[in-house]
Amino acid sequence: MPRGRPKSKITACLHFDRPVYAKGMCRNCYIMKKYWSDPEFREKKKAYGRKASLKWLNKKIKKDPEFNAKRQRTFRKKHPDSFNYMMAKSYIKKLTTEKKAELIKEIS
Ligand SMILES: [Zn+2]
Repeated sequence: MPRGRPKSKITACLHFDRPVYAKGMCRNCYIMKKYWSDPEFREKKKAYGRKASLKWLNKKIKKDPEFNAKRQRTFRKKHPDSFNYMMAKSYIKKLTTEKKAELIKEIS
């Protein structure tokens, strides 16, 4: 005889071929629903993602100290407009409010 509770079926999402994870949903749908409905869970997931990507980057930099510079160069080639936008954004962040006002005067 099989142990555990009987196999439940997908009832709350449309992925009928996947195994049930919780509340009649597959794993992806359940986690996505929780992500968008539970702000605490969302922050946790975001923090985990940030930490994981930083870990990945540090690992790459350890292997090749030039890795981040190379990555930035390729990004700049692929998306020149986005790169300019990001550079402008970081430049404006560093400015004081007086300098910002001066800049706005210059533009208009
Ligand atoms: Zn699903």
